[in-house]
Amino acid sequence: MSGIRRILFATGNQGKLREIRDIMEDTGVEVYSMKEAGIEAEIVEDGATFTENALIKARTVAKAAKAPDTAVLADDSGLVIDALDGEPGIYSARYMGEDTSYDEKNRNLIRRLEGVPEEKRTARFVCAIAAVLPDGREFTVQDTIEGRIGYEQKGEGGFGYDPIFYVPEFGRTTAEMTPEEKNRVSHRGKALEHMKEVLRENEGFGRK
Ligand code: IMP
Repeated sequence: MSGIRRILFATGNQGKLREIRDIMEDTGVEVYSMKEAGIEAEIVEDGATFTENALIKARTVAKAAKAPDTAVLADDSGLVIDALDGEPGIYSARYMGEDTSYDEKNRNLIRRLEGVPEEKRTARFVCAIAAVLPDGREFTVQDTIEGRIGYEQKGEGGFGYDPIFYVPEFGRTTAEMTPEEKNRVSHRGKALEHMKEVLRENEGFGRK
C-alpha cells in the first residue's frame, strides 16, 4: 500500500490544476495546489528542456513542502511550432511577456504563419511531468499531442493556445473539445496517465 495520500501540484495555473484534478480523480488521491498548501516558492525556470524545467519546479516545491505523505508533481508544457523553429517552446508562458493576453499571443502567431501552407503548419503541445517522492526518488515522463496551427482562433474551452491548436483527427481545435475529450488525447492527459502508471508501479499509488 502506498504511503502517498496527497499530490501537491506545483502550479499557479488554474487551467492546468482543473485538468489535473479531473485526471487524478480515479486514484482517490487528493490533489492540492501550492496556494492551498501556503507555499510561495520562487522558481527560476532556467532549464533547457521541458523535463529539466519540470524537475526544477518539483524539486523547489518539494524542498518547501516536506510532508511525508505527499508527492510533489510539476509539469512544464508548451507549444512547439515547426515553421517557427520550435517557438514558443519552453518560453510559451513568457512569449510576448507574461502579461500579454492569449488573444494577442494567438493573433501574433497566426500572423507570423501568414502564407505558410497547411502541411507546414505542424505543431505539438508537449508536456513533461516530474515527480519528487517524500524519500527523494524522482521520476519524469513526457508526452505530446500533434496538431496544426489554425488560420483563426476557434472555441471557448481550454486555455492558452488552445484556440489556435487544430487537431486534424477531431476536425476541431483543443478549445472546441469538451474537457473530457481534451484530457483523453492531450499532452498533459497522456503524461499524467503515464505518471499515474509510473507511480502505481513504483509506489502502489492510487490503489484503493
Ligand atoms: P508552463 O506553466 O511553463 O508549463 O507554461 C506552459 C504554457 O504553455 C501555458 O501557459 C500555455 O501558454 C501553453 N500551454 C501548455 N499546455 C497548454 C494547453 O493544453 N493548451 C493551451 N496552451 C497550453
